[in-house]
Amino acid sequence: MWCVIAHYHELALKGRNRSILVGQLVQHIKTATADLGVLGVDSLPGRIRLRFSQNTPLEELWQRLKIRMSSVFGIANFSLALSSPINPDGDLEAFKIAIGEAIQLQEFESFRVTTKRGDKRFPKPSMEVSREVGGYIKQLTGKRVDLTNPDLTIYLELLFQSGFASFARLPGPGGLTVGMSGKTVCLLSGGIDSPVAAYRMMKRGCQQIFVHFHSHPFVSRASQEKAEDLATILTKYQHHSLLYLIPFGDIQRLIVLTVPPAFRIVIYRRFMIRIAEHIARQHRAWALITGDSLGQVASQVPDNLTVIEEAANLPLLRPLIAMDKIEITAQAESIGTYETSIIPDQDCCTLFTPAHPIIRPNIGTVHKMEAGLDVKELVRQGLEGAKKLEFTFP
Ligand code: ATP
Ligand code: MG
Repeated sequence: MWCVIAHYHELALKGRNRSILVGQLVQHIKTATADLGVLGVDSLPGRIRLRFSQNTPLEELWQRLKIRMSSVFGIANFSLALSSPINPDGDLEAFKIAIGEAIQLQEFESFRVTTKRGDKRFPKPSMEVSREVGGYIKQLTGKRVDLTNPDLTIYLELLFQSGFASFARLPGPGGLTVGMSGKTVCLLSGGIDSPVAAYRMMKRGCQQIFVHFHSHPFVSRASQEKAEDLATILTKYQHHSLLYLIPFGDIQRLIVLTVPPAFRIVIYRRFMIRIAEHIARQHRAWALITGDSLGQVASQVPDNLTVIEEAANLPLLRPLIAMDKIEITAQAESIGTYETSIIPDQDCCTLFTPAHPIIRPNIGTVHKMEAGLDVKELVRQGLEGAKKLEFTFP
């Protein structure tokens, strides 16, 4: 019988919470594969098994499962595996015959067998199992054993009463299961960076709530459409997302009445932070996420980052801070957001701002400028105009 076996890595280190965390991973795999005809996803000792109807065309199902499994954080690797009952007294006859049949479909000249006992009650040591099964395969196929550089590795995993054999192991995305590290609010612009920041936080187990600020109707709807498309793409990794679209143009109009041009970007950002923080508290999210990368543009030099952060009470995390644009772009391409991010639009921060914002703002000066604004009222206005969208995958 064919099944899929998934292994986790970091979860395995989590001691007492482990069974809860593995349960969360099982749940994510169930959601990610919900429309593919998977019959069950269960937690076995040290691994997770996906069962499906043996009437489903295997190759087609495997191609689809591969894509889905590679976006479930927490999976270290996974494989299509042949499962067979084994005898707890150590008798491997049925298992060997099943492997021998399945291996007829593989093309190889040399091979090796590696065995892991997931249950140490199985009486034969791993080495002995590898030797016994390897000997059988060698006799059956006439192929050569090569322990260092084989064409084919046969991975065996033995539990107490069942064995699994697979011929290839694919890497999963790794990381921690989404939700395991709580929720965070990601300030999602239409650019290249913030979707990557969201991805990296999801990979560390944080469910993202997206917040996008737009200046419609002063500029086109393009940035909102991009934010929606990006949220759709990123939902593939967390299965459920919320996106808040916040009208920011009127707030900006009031800011420009009293704030000199060079300070505007920094003050816009401080208002974004305050509004995002309200949304975070509504959802019990514990931190805010931005796509800032140190020194990338004027608003991301040390003094500006510091002054922007001062408006936050929750932790403000910047997962890309030490990455350069080439690294960020490569990651945007690999997670599928790049093509959307480069569609031209007008970011709200370009509205009413000069080409050269201040580089060394003084926090006292910023406070004085904000004293001329009804901060609470502006934040309230932004929240009141918010439009909330929901995304699910698959
Ligand atoms: P990005 O590619 O993410 O837009 P960027 O290099 O263009 O980044 P900035 O425009 O300076 O950088 O924005 C820095 C960060 O501030 C963004 O990564 C994002 O987290 C947040 N941000 C900027 N503009 C918006 C917006 N309109 N809505 C939500 N968040 C925003
Ligand atoms: Mg931007």
